[in-house]
Amino acid sequence: MLRWIYPVTCTLCGEAAPLSVCESCRDALRRVPRPICLYCGAATAGTAAEPDRCESCKDFARVYDWARSALVLGGETRGLVHDLKYHRASYLAEPMAEILLQLWASTPQLASHCDCALVPVPIDPLRSHERGYNQAELLARKLGARLGVPVQQPLMRLLSDEDTRSMTRLSARARQQHANKVYALSPHWLKKKETLPVRVVIVDDVYTTGATARACAKVLRTLPGVQEIGVLTVARAM
Ligand SMILES: [Zn+2]
Ligand SMILES: [Zn+2]
Repeated sequence: MLRWIYPVTCTLCGEAAPLSVCESCRDALRRVPRPICLYCGAATAGTAAEPDRCESCKDFARVYDWARSALVLGGETRGLVHDLKYHRASYLAEPMAEILLQLWASTPQLASHCDCALVPVPIDPLRSHERGYNQAELLARKLGARLGVPVQQPLMRLLSDEDTRSMTRLSARARQQHANKVYALSPHWLKKKETLPVRVVIVDDVYTTGATARACAKVLRTLPGVQEIGVLTVARAM
């Protein structure tokens, strides 16, 4: 009977469900535990000397205003993120957007989102061509549709994944310097003469070291009118 109402089956438990990850499997995914650093959203285990700033944030200037992630990158979440990114499982964007929607509702900075736009982190155009989509854009579109918030794409990626592959071996600071060279304003977007609202929310699948979020925020800061930059990601490496 359920299968007749819901033709989709949950990727994790195999039960018939309205989305490709059912509600109880979504609820079972591990959330980022509280307390968190009020700046980057990392779990601090209550050990940070300043409650609003974790140890690793002290090394970086405040480029964005806040970042929040829903899930811990591990267990089932790691598999789901991986499948969305590398195995063409674009159907996973919808349940992940549902998880972002929950995070949105519980983030005080987002309580009133009247003047706001979602900005997906761009990927290497070659990658996007191979895969057929940019997972961050897919997430932003699904979330934007649920919220009635527009998606804008003012950013582009300059270097290919080949250039950044070695980044994992770099120190945090070197990684940041490298990331800062990767993102720029898209000439295509500039040509359209669109403007961004006061509040912008960068959307991505994973927050790892924050180098990408900071690099994108740095570019967005150069646009007139942008006052607040937030970052929302489905998962967070811990
Ligand atoms: Zn399930
Ligand atoms: Zn932090």
